Amino acid sequence: MLVVMKTQATPEEIQAVCDHIEQLGFRAHPLPGAQRTAIGITGNKDAVERGNIEALSGVAEVIRVSKAYKLASRDVKEEDTIVTFPAEGACSEAAIGGRNLAIVAGPCSIESRDQAFAIARHIAESGAQFFRGGAYKPRTSPYAFQGLGLDALKIMADIRDTYGLRIVTEAIDNESLELVAEYADVIQIGARNMQNFSLLKHAGRLRKPVLLKRGLSATLEEFLMSAEYIMSEGNYQVILCERGVRTFADHTRNTLDLSIIPAVQRLSHLPILVDPSHGTGRRDSVLPMARAAVATGADGILVEVHHQPEKALSDGPQSIYPDQFVRMMNELEQIAPVVGRSLPRAIHAESPAV
Ligand code: PEP
Ligand code: MN
Repeated sequence: MLVVMKTQATPEEIQAVCDHIEQLGFRAHPLPGAQRTAIGITGNKDAVERGNIEALSGVAEVIRVSKAYKLASRDVKEEDTIVTFPAEGACSEAAIGGRNLAIVAGPCSIESRDQAFAIARHIAESGAQFFRGGAYKPRTSPYAFQGLGLDALKIMADIRDTYGLRIVTEAIDNESLELVAEYADVIQIGARNMQNFSLLKHAGRLRKPVLLKRGLSATLEEFLMSAEYIMSEGNYQVILCERGVRTFADHTRNTLDLSIIPAVQRLSHLPILVDPSHGTGRRDSVLPMARAAVATGADGILVEVHHQPEKALSDGPQSIYPDQFVRMMNELEQIAPVVGRSLPRAIHAESPAV
């Protein structure tokens, strides 16, 4: 159910409606919009009695939301969600969603302080605003490099302070989630964990943006239901990420499903990034698919960059070189205005000697 408040409803009236909903044993999710506030009602008990709520002061109407996912749906929030990051420390203001494209770039894994800083310097010089790097790696083989864990988080926190890049890194379980939430600006939940409902719920209890990657074989509805798990716990800062799905095609590691972008944008207000690195698994396909993603209307790109990909401990073959990243930024900057977007270039702190 969705309670639509009148345009002139006061904060007190909105609060009173939320209190009423909670007293009934449901959960109230106030969703402020440009014109008016809507309040989503969730809870798995009986149906809410619409009559009582409609009579409350400041309420315009009460609507049934028929979609399985509610808070993620455009039915409850018409305007696009923009996840904002206020200026803080060395970081300038940033956003994911809205007019500006967001670029998240960095190695698959943090392998050492030198490796991470060398790559971060290139990312910062290109004017991207977000640095990615895995500290906890979900690897297919238990014998493959599993990530440096806490040491990697500390290296990334130093990268934020040095370059003003915001940090995006993955939590693979509830244990790593706590640490990632402490150090990162955005918590990534990877494809293999898209339906780890316990992890989703825990991330929903935090108040940090979550970047949720599409599962290897997830349908659009399953993807949005996973976003709903996070939002149902009160964390509305969810960023979706298409990273390719398993198909019979064997010319790429996965099949990057760009057709999900307009589908997501029709059904949901959440921003969506595209990851052409895992989406193709091939360095030579990353740039063409990044261009296509922006042309299709993605809110930004998540891309793996490595200065020595032949030595990378994970995902070397799909990591682009820094000069390819520069080219990517230049080309996306030119494509962006064609689709009503722009690519902001952050001016970062002087590169220190590392
Ligand atoms: C990653 O971003 O390094 C990663 C492991 O991605 P995915 O979960 O999409 O495979
Ligand atoms: Mn990777």
